[in-house]
Amino acid sequence: MNYYSTNNPSLRVSLQQAVVEGLAADNGLFMPEFIPPLPPQFFDTLAQKSFQEISLEVAKNLIGNDLPDKELERIVTQTISFDAPLVKIEEGIYALELFHGPTLAFKDFGAKFLAGLLGYYAQQQSREMTVLVATSGDTGSAVANGFYNVEGTKVIVLYPSGKVSDLQEKQFTTLGGNITALEIDGTFDDCQRLVKLAFLDKQLQQQRMLTSANSINIARLIPQMFYYFWAYAQLPDKSKEVVVSVPSGNFGNLTAGLIAKKMGLPISKFIAATNLNDVVPAYLESGSFATRPSVATLSSAMDVGNPSNFARILDLYSGNREAILNDVVGVKITEEETCHAIQHLYHSMEYVLDPHGAIGYLALKNLIDSRKQTGIFLETAHPGKFKEVVENNTKKAVLLPDRLSAFLSKQKQTTRLNNTYIELKEFLLSYCFTMR
Ligand SMILES: *Cc1c(COP(=O)(O)O)cnc(C)c1O
Repeated sequence: MNYYSTNNPSLRVSLQQAVVEGLAADNGLFMPEFIPPLPPQFFDTLAQKSFQEISLEVAKNLIGNDLPDKELERIVTQTISFDAPLVKIEEGIYALELFHGPTLAFKDFGAKFLAGLLGYYAQQQSREMTVLVATSGDTGSAVANGFYNVEGTKVIVLYPSGKVSDLQEKQFTTLGGNITALEIDGTFDDCQRLVKLAFLDKQLQQQRMLTSANSINIARLIPQMFYYFWAYAQLPDKSKEVVVSVPSGNFGNLTAGLIAKKMGLPISKFIAATNLNDVVPAYLESGSFATRPSVATLSSAMDVGNPSNFARILDLYSGNREAILNDVVGVKITEEETCHAIQHLYHSMEYVLDPHGAIGYLALKNLIDSRKQTGIFLETAHPGKFKEVVENNTKKAVLLPDRLSAFLSKQKQTTRLNNTYIELKEFLLSYCFTMR
């Protein structure tokens, strides 16, 4: 399978090049040149397969012979090392819990798969891979933990100072070793812009030293397809239409779901559920895509004003909004509604939502026609990651798994930078030269 750029459909690069470069030289995002449908036998036997077996078949279908079978098997097995259970919440509504990994958010899947691939390429090319990543919280912790001690790799995390939770910050600023954290005076959008500039920088490019771990990297999206198939496999009653609600920020998760559908997964509709940062729902309604600075909300991992994967969604549908509307409905959820959803589900069902899952749940609840549809929402993070918001609404303590609370007692180590590119570049040059 080769990959093209969303800015240049005639470009062809290998999986290795797409993954190592992260972003195409023309600023476009890499896409597979075609999306092969899975054979009917795959779906006939879905209910008998394990999460790992399903994941391996989906991966092979897309990746083909780009990687030796035993390497792909090793990487998939390492990635799918924890479950994503489908939990019944109420009649006709299920949560796909994606938070059972090491940093308790769905981003663990993408981070582990990417770390596996880059570790393999580093070994093949006998050179070091430096990963540069911007985070609004969860990506940084997942990537740092996914890459921690992976031979041949180093990670630099950029994050907005004071705008991520204490626990999130501790998960990527206390590891040390091959993980470095840069605290930026600015917003997440600033961090994302700085990372993009670094990738477009000819001088840095010539030294071939940087790789992206943001959801612009196609390797992050591939394992995110696996759990849509696993969700469907676990669904006890498949007689109704299936609607999947995806709480979205950079829209990587939704993009992965749409690709899974193109591979043949029978999902009738996706809900693009956002917080107040609703540029995609606004586009679906009006047809104009107007990016704007992000506003801070309770579901901070979705505070994105210029969602990077939107270009991929447009590309999947050849820029045709009508076609997108066939598959995707946009819903914006307010802060108040988010709180109500957490309160409601806790009081009615004793199920504790995190603020991101709350948005997915409520958007689904508002739209679903339970006579003919079954709904699944992605529960993207453990409620303990957003303890304050959750406890304010449930009035009950959320317990954190021990492996997470251990981070809180460790000492943070960061380098603080302003939000200009020149400072970042100076840091990268000195960092990379001292490394050699
Ligand atoms: C990153 C994140 C999201 C948004 O996912 P995208 O793929 O960027 O749309 C939602 N919820 C949580 C908890 C996240 O960490």
